[in-house]
Amino acid sequence: MPVLSQVWLMPRHAGMKPLKKVIILGGGYAGVNAALRLRLRNKDVEITLVNDRSDFIERIRNHELAAGRSARQLPLSDVLGEDIRFVLGRVQKIDVVTRQVLIDGQTCAYDMLIYALGSGALSRNAQHLHTINSREGAERFHADLLSRKDHGVTILGSGLTGIELATELRERFPDRKITLMDRRQPGSHLGIKAQNYLNGTLSDMRIGFEILTVDPLTNSGFVSDTEKEMNLVVNCMGFQSPDLARKSGLRCDDKNRVFVNSHLQAEGHPEILVAGDAAVYGFGLQQITYAGCATAMPMGTYAGETAARILAGENPTEFRYGFTFQCISLGRKKGIIQFLDKRTGAATGAVLTGKTAAAFKELICRLTVLLPKLERKTRLPFYTWRKTRIMKRIGSLASKAA
Ligand SMILES: Cc1cc2nc3c(=O)[nH]c(=O)nc-3n(C[C@H](O)[C@H](O)[C@H](O)COP(=O)(O)OP(=O)(O)OC[C@H]3O[C@@H](n4cnc5c(N)ncnc54)[C@H](O)[C@@H]3O)c2cc1C
Repeated sequence: MPVLSQVWLMPRHAGMKPLKKVIILGGGYAGVNAALRLRLRNKDVEITLVNDRSDFIERIRNHELAAGRSARQLPLSDVLGEDIRFVLGRVQKIDVVTRQVLIDGQTCAYDMLIYALGSGALSRNAQHLHTINSREGAERFHADLLSRKDHGVTILGSGLTGIELATELRERFPDRKITLMDRRQPGSHLGIKAQNYLNGTLSDMRIGFEILTVDPLTNSGFVSDTEKEMNLVVNCMGFQSPDLARKSGLRCDDKNRVFVNSHLQAEGHPEILVAGDAAVYGFGLQQITYAGCATAMPMGTYAGETAARILAGENPTEFRYGFTFQCISLGRKKGIIQFLDKRTGAATGAVLTGKTAAAFKELICRLTVLLPKLERKTRLPFYTWRKTRIMKRIGSLASKAA
């Protein structure tokens, strides 16, 4: 793996115009897909991806790690291949005026930047709680769970992460008390059929639910001392991005997500594209409010394509994306696939449940790793977010069955 000074001092083609430099910050779902697609579309640009850890993290499986499954090792240098430089380092600052990034004390210049630093747990008053946003966090929680055999688990937040964690834990720990706490009922955004299936499964799995009457993020006394003595408390209340973009002068929302236009460009900085959890639609456009690998992959791929277009002097097309389905695992044997209206994002009547849905969700998780791998090996644009014929077919079969 090249060290920083080697990367930026490498001789360019003697006597030729220096190559354009694109730096990609973040080696998660968005950053990796951006790098691979840019390499596919432009053979000449110098691409460097910077990440603060050497592995690609399958973050969508962190609840599985929290329950005791071991992580797959996927070195980023292998995932990216030889013609994309990988630099292991921590990004400290972006100078958006001089177009330089500070990485572990060293300054590196860019012509275009793709910002994809993702997110962590929503914290404010909750730093003392467990979270499963990072691999280490999930493993720490698991170790704590093993060492405190008499403790139950209280999961704050009954969104998809909370539900997936609760059900995964139940399969591995049949005797623990597991409780979800939220201001809203689990799965209240789902269609009625999916909601009924979810409630039935949570009840069969003896997963409790309690209504939270205070906002845990603003009220530090939201979990009583007795509750903390008896239970491990996990924060699954949502995501928040690092404050690096805000500190570097980019306009962000209250979760530190950078406002982008329909080309995913940061406000006032057409040379900076933002993808994944770190981006939010702004400029009066409809907001992408769903942070997920389901959006990070298309946004990253689009950012790679758009960077290639801009470098070639072409006008970028608009980023168009609509959710068509949402996958929820309920342990290893059950799941829910809720089909959505592409324009509004609202739940439709079409749903898959049970073993079929569990297998479908597992397939999706595998594809998030397999598709970039195929793209790198075959040099073909394997990943697409445009609704494929097969998804249309599954959706229409599920509608007929509904
Ligand atoms: C338990 C769990 C289950 C989930 N399940 C689903 C699901 O089923 N479907 C779904 O769509 N989404 C799911 N998500 C959400 C999904 O994981 C995220 O939305 C997705 O990872 C976002 O991708 P990203 O590339 O934007 O960011 P990330 O995957 O967070 O990657 C960002 C990368 O940047 C690196 N980084 C951050 N700061 C720095 C820095 N200063 N310097 C260098 N590197 C840095 C990080 O180490 C990381 O490698 C789940 C999340 C969790 C926690």
